[in-house]
Amino acid sequence: MKKIAVFTSGGDSPGMNACVRAVVRTAIFKGLEVYGIYRGYEGMIDGDIKRLQSHSVSNIVQRGGTILKSARSMEFKTPEGRKQAYDNLKAHGIEGLVAIGGDGTFTGAKVFFEEFGIPTIGCPGTIDNDLYGTDYTIGFDTAVNTALEAIDKIRDTAAAHDRIFFIEVMGRDAGFIAIESGIGGGAEFVMVPETKTNLDDVVKSLKNNRKNRFSSIVVVAEGDEAGNAQTVMEIVKNKVNDPSKDFKVTTLGHIQRGGNPTARDRVLASRCGMSAVEGLIAGHQFHMAGVVNQEVVFTPFADCIGKTKPLIEDHLKLMKILSI
Ligand code: ATP
Repeated sequence: MKKIAVFTSGGDSPGMNACVRAVVRTAIFKGLEVYGIYRGYEGMIDGDIKRLQSHSVSNIVQRGGTILKSARSMEFKTPEGRKQAYDNLKAHGIEGLVAIGGDGTFTGAKVFFEEFGIPTIGCPGTIDNDLYGTDYTIGFDTAVNTALEAIDKIRDTAAAHDRIFFIEVMGRDAGFIAIESGIGGGAEFVMVPETKTNLDDVVKSLKNNRKNRFSSIVVVAEGDEAGNAQTVMEIVKNKVNDPSKDFKVTTLGHIQRGGNPTARDRVLASRCGMSAVEGLIAGHQFHMAGVVNQEVVFTPFADCIGKTKPLIEDHLKLMKILSI
């Protein structure tokens, strides 16, 4: 293998740049030519492909977002789009790919590999932490810390005015950001998609507040089946039925995707990037490079996409114990 390319795809996450940097520098270190594909699969189809050098990735390790840009491509879901993408890669002589993204990106990579046989290694780039085959995904730690910082600030105003805040955090269908920011932020209750929440329990928890504490934080994962934070707040407010209590909603939204990556994310991203290139050289073909129990592990895309990563049981237990 002499030429490889790297791209970022799907939702951006802090640490993607550190990962791109590691891919580029490891490839050069190993004597490979390395190319950057801009705007994910969209750029692959448009031929937006450029040679990268070591200096191309200078001064990016600390930056959020992705210098390669990211995109969602409808065209790549069509056989014609993928054929065009393949022709462009072939024209550049690219023999291997590193795909930095989430489950959608790996679904696309799997289909593409099955059709055209270009070896592709994935790096888990998503804030949601919802990928099987790695303990943590690149960007998750930064997103949790961003949510935590916001919760701390909201807590100040909640306490000053004796308010009850429902805070909605991201995570798609997974509750990892919610549970970790809830534990770290000292929330009274966390609602996650993985477990069904009885809203009467939330009401009970808010009513049982200690005498000297009238402010409360409830963290709601965006994918919770009870609805978004606004809906949940209205149901709970009606059930509490106490005009002296002041209910508020804050949806944290896209701030959770931005910002400088934490040290943990930079190190994880760098490790995954290096391992992806080493994996390609070693002959892995349709695997994600993740870190499980401190070790790099290569997991087939089919498992990363098809298997569900469960929440840590102790985290759920902690929420129950710490909010009494
Ligand atoms: P995040 O979890 O952060 O949103 P993601 O990688 O899951 O990231 P998606 O938008 O779901 O983001 O997927 C990225 C891209 O992967 C899509 O825009 C599309 O181009 C490609 N893709 C997804 N599913 C398929 C599929 N079944 N066939 C071909 N390509 C696909």
